[in-house]
Parts: sequence; C-alpha cells; structure tokens
Amino acid sequence: MHDVIIIGGGPAGLTAGLYTSRARLKSLLIEKGLTGGTVTITEWIENYPGFEEGVAGTDLARKMEQQATKFGLEITQGTVIRISFNGNIKKVILEDGQEIESKSVILASGGHPRKLKIEGEDEFRGKGVSYCATCDGAFFKGAKIAVIGGGDSAVQEGLFLTKFAEVVYIVHRRDNLRAEKILQDRAFSDPKIKLVWDSVPEKIEGDEKGVTSLLVKNVKTGELTSLEVEGVFIYIGFDPNTEFLAGTANLDENNYIITDENLATSAPGIFAAGDMRSKITKQIATAVGDGAIAAIAAEKYIEDNFKK
Ligand code: NAP
Repeated sequence: MHDVIIIGGGPAGLTAGLYTSRARLKSLLIEKGLTGGTVTITEWIENYPGFEEGVAGTDLARKMEQQATKFGLEITQGTVIRISFNGNIKKVILEDGQEIESKSVILASGGHPRKLKIEGEDEFRGKGVSYCATCDGAFFKGAKIAVIGGGDSAVQEGLFLTKFAEVVYIVHRRDNLRAEKILQDRAFSDPKIKLVWDSVPEKIEGDEKGVTSLLVKNVKTGELTSLEVEGVFIYIGFDPNTEFLAGTANLDENNYIITDENLATSAPGIFAAGDMRSKITKQIATAVGDGAIAAIAAEKYIEDNFKK
C-alpha cells in the first residue's frame, strides 16, 4: 500500500514527489514516457527562477528528478487507464493490468499538443511536420519552415528554429501575438522571422521526400498563398491528458480537471497539479507551486483519514 501515487512526471509531479518523500510518505510516481514532461521538449527556459542565464529543459527535468529520488521518490513507467475506489483506498489501474493501491493520488499528467486537423498533417508527421522544435529543429539547416500559432510556444520555438532555418514564417490567425512581450520584441527584430498575419493553414503538401509547401488562407481577404517550406512546426496549444479520469472526478467544458484552492478534486483523496488543471496560467513556476500544494494537501488528507 502506497501513501501517495503521483500520475505524471513533469515539474508538478516531480515537485509533489519531492515534498511527499520528504514527508516520509511512501510515494510512487507513474510516468508513461520520459520524466520531465513537456519541459524536456523545451529547448531553453529563461523564466524559471534560480537560473540567471536560463536552463536547458532537459537539464531542469533531470535536476528535478534527481532531487526527488534522492529523498526516496520511487519512479516507474506505465500508463494509467483508470482509478477505482475500495472505501477510501484508491486503486490505480495500469494498461498492463497492474493494480496499485494507495491512500491518496496526485494527478499531474499534463497535456499533449493540439493538432491542426488539416490535410497532410498526419501524412507528413515525421517527414516535415513536427510538434517539437528541440527534437527536430536540427534537420532543417538552411531550410525555410513555418511555425503555426501566436502564443509563447510558437514564438519561443520559432526563435529557436532560426538557429537552423534560413527563414521561419510564423503563421498566426490574428494580427497580434498572444506571446509574452519580450518574446514578441525578439521575434519582430529577428531578420529570419517573417510574420504571416491573419492566416490559417489549409493544407500541408509534399512528395515522397516530405513537406514541400504549406497552403495558407488569409481570413480577412480569403486569399490563398502557398509558402514553400520543408518543415511545419505546430504550436497551437494543447489538450489535457484527462481521458483516464472520465467518471472519477469533475472536469470543465474543455476537459481540464476542476480543483479547489487546496488542489483537491471532486474525488476525496485525489488532488491535481500543473497543466491538466483548470486555471489560466501554464508555467513551470506555477506547476511546481501546484505540486507543493497538492503534496501538503495529500499529507493532511492521509493524517485525517487513516489511522497511524
Ligand atoms: P496558447 O497560449 O494556447 O497559444 C496557442 C496559439 O495558437 C494562439 O496564438 C492561438 O491563436 C493559436 N491557435 C489555437 N488554435 C488554433 C488553430 N486551430 N489554428 C491556428 N491557430 C490556432 O498555447 P502555447 O503557446 O502552447 O502555450 C500554452 C501555455 O503554456 C500558455 O499558458 C503559455 O503561456 C505557456 N507557455 C509559457 C512559456 C514561457 O513562459 N516562456 C513557453 C511556452 C508555453 P489565438 O491567439 O488567436 O487564440
């Protein structure tokens, strides 16, 4: 019997694990992929406190993992498909049939990149279509590429891609960016970045070698333009990984999990932290704050509901 099972190994989950392990709670973190979550696909992070020059996403993830496991957090790989209850004991059910019991659960399973759902997106995935500049950017040395979106991810990763590409088109559906002002200033002053305003991608075209062009439509004029590009990087936000929670705890209209201020969900003894939670901010700094709050709340829940 575990005291706490943490589902998801991004900054929220790893911070929760650090706190619960230091509280001497028997803690298991279950992660389906690489520990670190979306941090590991972020090339460079400049707004996480404590790193005045910035820090590589992979380094930050590794440091968080090492710090948590040093205090006893156990990490295992697996995909959670369901949570069920036996009185106030939670049973976490994995895809491989394992069932692991725990007094409390902290959900921190983050999200996955949203898809454009246009022709060519699936066909050319891995052949020019990518959702990860850190992973695939280096394949585009001297090439022209398009980045879709106008948020922090699109602009930040677009700037990173100028290291390799000759031209980076940022295709955005409105006429002003959503990204942080400091990122906007950098994009506007970078000669390799060309903003394509008021435009939405219509179709990704290519041949047996991969992507050759992106057809975009101006939403104000209806005009269609073909951008000759070898890569299309899609950063239009993400959707929460909450499918496995259907019927377990209340979700909002966009499938984010609803919590109270102590990060308790509608299911007793189940807490949630990080990007899967219904809230405005999705930052590493806020995810680690969530992880700490959820861990302390889980500890209190165990003290109140289970005899020593
Ligand atoms: P986001 O902030 O939700 O931005 C998504 C962008 O894609 C928006 O500009 C949106 O346009 C556009 N978009 C959405 N659906 C579209 C569609 N179907 N077709 C074309 N364009 C579409 O997502 P994000 O940039 O991935 O960021 C997610 C969260 O992580 C945010 O809270 C962000 O602040 C945070 N984040 C922070 C940092 C950082 O602090 N440096 C870095 C990365 C991410 P509209 O603007 O018109 O809605």
